Amino acid sequence: MPLSKKKLTYEHKMKIGKANLGKKNGMWKGNNVGYFPLHEWIKKRKPKPKFCEKCKIRKSYDLANISGNYKRDVNDFEYLCRKCHMNEDGRLKKLQGFNDNKRINAEEKKKRYKIYCQKNREKIRLKYKRWYEKNKIKKLNKGKQK
Ligand SMILES: [Zn+2]
Repeated sequence: MPLSKKKLTYEHKMKIGKANLGKKNGMWKGNNVGYFPLHEWIKKRKPKPKFCEKCKIRKSYDLANISGNYKRDVNDFEYLCRKCHMNEDGRLKKLQGFNDNKRINAEEKKKRYKIYCQKNREKIRLKYKRWYEKNKIKKLNKGKQK
């Protein structure tokens, strides 16, 4: 019986499972971690303070990233209250506004292209009309000659 077709025993499966634990199992992605796993990683290493790290008045609410690069670094995160966190998000919204401008530009280009096409269609139509009239006259002349 070929090895690949042999049914894995329970014990064998457990061995494979253990071998895949830790750095080998794909959960560890170095600095390239997903949003939520990274938050979990930071939360484990950075205890949540009682108060917001920014205003130090209101209760801390959320773990917020400072650089926007989501580094695997506890110093790149801070616990903020709702209000400070929203202010931070406002900073991000400015970036989104930039993307909106890009989108509007794309729409503007589309519009211009449409107008360009419409104008050209008219040109093509006129060209075709002239060609058609010319041929019609030629045909008529031919008919007359016969
Ligand atoms: Zn605050």
